[in-house]
Parts: sequence; structure tokens; C-alpha cells
Amino acid sequence: MELCAPHGEASVGSCTRCGAFICERCRRWMSEKPFCAECLKRLGDRPSREAVWALGLATLGLLLWVPALVAFPLAQRELERIAQGRAPEAGRDFASLARALAGFVSVVGAVAIAVGLYRAFS
Ligand SMILES: [Zn+2]
Ligand SMILES: [Zn+2]
Repeated sequence: MELCAPHGEASVGSCTRCGAFICERCRRWMSEKPFCAECLKRLGDRPSREAVWALGLATLGLLLWVPALVAFPLAQRELERIAQGRAPEAGRDFASLARALAGFVSVVGAVAIAVGLYRAFS
């Protein structure tokens, strides 16, 4: 029988990230996947750089439009990584806000450009 390192108790599985054996007491859940306490601490405390970047670019997109086009796929990919437990849960709010903002800005910007072109050429 496998034992967890911190408690020496029978393991109920292994950590999704580091593969360490985890007992009932060590086991933490994130996005429906088991993690050891150490990994959760590392993954869970702060939003990833990608999530922060996505939100920053989405905000910049309000002024310059183009960054929003980059922010949208970045935020989308980050949300997928969070759902798969490969990125910190703490980034979820950042990434979903970034996706919403970037989506909005992209559409509004595209419409504004289309209207501008229409006016210019008619
Ligand atoms: Zn771990
Ligand atoms: Zn344990």
C-alpha cells in the first residue's frame, strides 16, 4: 500500500501535478482534480501571468482596439487551462473578465471601423 509523505497514511490517489501520493487529509480539489496541499498552494494563490496579461491587453484594447484581438484568444486559452487544472484557479476572474471585455471591444471596434470605411467610401 502506498503512503502519503506528510501523514504516512494510506493514499487515496496521487496529485495531478506532481504525482505525489495523497491521503484523504492531504487531498485538495481544484477544477474537479485532486492535488496535494503543496501544489494547490503554488497553483492556487495567484492568477497566472497569462490571465493578468489577458486582462491588461483587454483594457488596453479599450483605447487601441488591436490588443483586444490578442487578449481574446489568450483569455480563452487561459480559461481552458484553468478548467483542466493546469493554471491557477485564482486567474479565473481575470480571464473571464478579460474575455468578456475583449469580446465586447473587438465587436464594437470592428463595427466602428466598418462604419468608418463605409462613410469614407460612399
Ligand atoms: Zn502535488
Ligand atoms: Zn496525507
